[in-house]
Amino acid sequence: MTPDEFRKHAHELVEWMAGYMESVEKYPVKSDVKPGEIFKRIPEAPPVLPEAFSSLMKDFEEIIMPGITHWQSPNFFAYFPANTSPPSILAEMIISTLGAQCMNWETSPAAAELEEKMMIWLRGMIGLPDYFEGVIQDTASTATLAAILTAREKISGFAVNNDGAASAGVLRVYCSQQTHSSVEKDVRISGIGRKNLIKVAVREDFSMDPLRLDEAITADWKKGFIPCCVVATLGTTGSTAVDPLKAIGEICSRNGIWLHVDAAMAGTALILPEFQWMLEGREYVDSFVFNPHKWMFTNFDCSAYFVRDAGILIKTFEILPEYLKTRTRGIVNDYRDWGVPLGRRFRALKLWSVIRSYGTDELKRKIRYHISIAKRLSELVSTEKDFEILAPVILNVVCFRYHPEGVPEDELNTINEKLNHLLNDSGKIYLTHTVLNHRYTLRMVTGQTNVTLEHAEKAWDLIKKIARGI
Ligand SMILES: *Cc1c(COP(=O)(O)O)cnc(C)c1O
Repeated sequence: MTPDEFRKHAHELVEWMAGYMESVEKYPVKSDVKPGEIFKRIPEAPPVLPEAFSSLMKDFEEIIMPGITHWQSPNFFAYFPANTSPPSILAEMIISTLGAQCMNWETSPAAAELEEKMMIWLRGMIGLPDYFEGVIQDTASTATLAAILTAREKISGFAVNNDGAASAGVLRVYCSQQTHSSVEKDVRISGIGRKNLIKVAVREDFSMDPLRLDEAITADWKKGFIPCCVVATLGTTGSTAVDPLKAIGEICSRNGIWLHVDAAMAGTALILPEFQWMLEGREYVDSFVFNPHKWMFTNFDCSAYFVRDAGILIKTFEILPEYLKTRTRGIVNDYRDWGVPLGRRFRALKLWSVIRSYGTDELKRKIRYHISIAKRLSELVSTEKDFEILAPVILNVVCFRYHPEGVPEDELNTINEKLNHLLNDSGKIYLTHTVLNHRYTLRMVTGQTNVTLEHAEKAWDLIKKIARGI
């Protein structure tokens, strides 16, 4: 493809992109293709001769688009959002055009220095103390892995990196029963072992019970285990429960345990002064992660990871073969030493574009609006006698179920599961579920970039109608 041909196709593609944004609501939110349907339609072997981009686009529309679930539809209420926004998409275009691989300062000084400054901006926006240093990771899962590995090296005096996992004794990690599954995955990968992840009981609001945490740690010391790391969550994936950071932090501090905070989705709400309470106890925090790629209108992937002591993080990950030695080492940030991957995309540019395009005031306004939609929705659910709210509504998630009078508890799970499938099969909205206290729970997340109160109200009318028709 010549630059001129590229120019032509790119212009056409931009038209397609803007058209998609305008018409995204016309598609069924959740793709309804059957397993294998797309796979079958793609040739067994690659073409030998060059094909026109136009024929690729034709197949893209016909074969690929039906198999897309539309995360950017304002009727997407499932999981947690993976938001984009026009300024983020524009920045992605520049990033892929430059194609810079930003592993060291020297491999693109602007990428390293913009990343350093963006992390300072974000740190200030969410109210973390100035001593935190930040780095962009691909996902919260990886950032939490970095935290657990750093905690492991700190407590073992950097013995595990050198001598292997057996050299550290039995390390223990603590989280709540509502903690995201990535923590268990990370504990497994770290060599600490799944059996040494203690899932502490939660209180009535699904937040970690600090008394139970204290008991578990005390019992572990007595058994000769070595408490290493606590993962506290701000905004659990099930119901956005907020673990009590101050009480947990005091326990960590008393026991010399690393405190990692997973605020993957809810971290964005910290830009609002009225949600700064979630970060009370910040003085105890050793590391913190949140994903601008969830709620903050920045394309996946972009996960902001902050550490109190970047020195220990770097000491955990640093490795310096001859071919990576540079003259600027020690003067600048070489972010390859701040996590698992060597190669890195120029992700800071999309944060720069998003934050400058919206400004912090507009970001706050949008986040507040999303939270107000969830509040309103929870009022609507509460007024109906045959529905019930199943968890406190704190941020942008409403947990509820259909509960018609006289239906026994054991049938309610089946009915609500059926309701969930009927709603998603309608193509009009997309919701996902969790289980809280053994109850099948529908989760409605009002955090998509373009969601409005009208979308949520229409969805609610549909939910009532379909539920009552079962
Ligand atoms: C989404 C989520 C994660 C995982 O995020 P990735 O960036 O996809 O790894 C971890 N923790 C919580 C609380 C989440 O909501």
